[in-house]
Amino acid sequence: MARDYFSARRVLVTGGAGFVGSHLIDRLIEAGDEVLCVDNLFTGSKANIAHLHDHPRFEFMRHDICFPLFVEVDAIYNLACPASPIHYQHDPVQTTKVSVVGAINMLGLAKRIKVPILQASTSEVYGDPTQHPQTEPYWGNVNPIGLRSCYDEGKRCAETLFFDYHRQNGVKIKVARIFNTYGPRMHPSDGRVVSNFIMQALRGEDITIYGDGSQTRSFCYVDDLVEGLMRLMDSRDGFTGPVNIGNPVEFTIKQLAEQVIEMTGSRSTLVQHPLPSDDPTQRRPDISLAKKELDWEPTIELRAGLEKTIAYFRQISK
Ligand code: NAD
Ligand code: UDP
Repeated sequence: MARDYFSARRVLVTGGAGFVGSHLIDRLIEAGDEVLCVDNLFTGSKANIAHLHDHPRFEFMRHDICFPLFVEVDAIYNLACPASPIHYQHDPVQTTKVSVVGAINMLGLAKRIKVPILQASTSEVYGDPTQHPQTEPYWGNVNPIGLRSCYDEGKRCAETLFFDYHRQNGVKIKVARIFNTYGPRMHPSDGRVVSNFIMQALRGEDITIYGDGSQTRSFCYVDDLVEGLMRLMDSRDGFTGPVNIGNPVEFTIKQLAEQVIEMTGSRSTLVQHPLPSDDPTQRRPDISLAKKELDWEPTIELRAGLEKTIAYFRQISK
């Protein structure tokens, strides 16, 4: 049920001008919350939140969370961090900083004002997993010094900080391990596989398969992810996670390419490029914990989600 004027919750969303953050904000506003979006617009854009500009319950603040922030809110979603490999590898030191120093600042804020804080962690904490599908107790297989480490180790250290603030200071934490998510408002040149393949197909360019395309990923439509994040924030007291939020249906990258070509009616052909270092060979979430604790599972199949995503990329390419 939508909240009214008196019960409106003030929610801080860091990284709110990004792909996932902007969808989350739409849902929070719809639910009656007041939203403060904090973003330095490194990978996000004002266009993602332009439709909320004049909304009485929405406010945007340009700020880098590597610096302290003093605001009064009732809950914090910490999403600020570049998420695609080309974005997070562009300035790896900054990626570790936003993951670690940003987490310290946001946890410090949550501690001071005594509010729950949700961390957008990632399946990357499992690295190139030797356990399949991945369950939360699995510790992962991560290279600490590779090209992906700024993100993987940054997010792992953020999880450490979340649990230490929880144990040491009683901060109410909720940690979501998000698996590959796609949908409208992904950055068209963020280099992620779904945006790359769709843009390449729409332009009639070669579809770039890294390696032989046998590596797997499990793709979650953004609306399903946002529902999972909101349920996690509202989950029972004492439930901290980490909890996997993702779609357990697994595809090879080659299968994804073929499906995009078929759905766009493109004449593009598949070409192989070298596999980037430390690229995980397989990834699929075990979502038993999310089902049990959050009564959550994805409802949107890849074909339906791709239809909406392709329509979005067609529209912004006009
Ligand atoms: P995104 O790049 O679209 O959004 C990240 C947002 O954070 C951007 O708006 C960016 O400008 C902002 N940001 C970056 N550094 C900042 C800083 N120092 N201060 C303030 N704002 C800053 O990425 P996304 O896909 O929306 O990802 C959102 C979150 O979810 C990230 O934390 C990411 O690690 C996590 N995640 C996403 C996926 C996915 O598949 N999309 C998977 C796993 C985890
Ligand atoms: N990938 C690909 N072609 C591309 C972009 C990505 O084959 O044009 C592959 C990439 O090597 C990886 C998978 O698709 O195996 C998912 O890549 P993405 O960057 O989307 O996310 P992540 O590797 O972080 O899961």
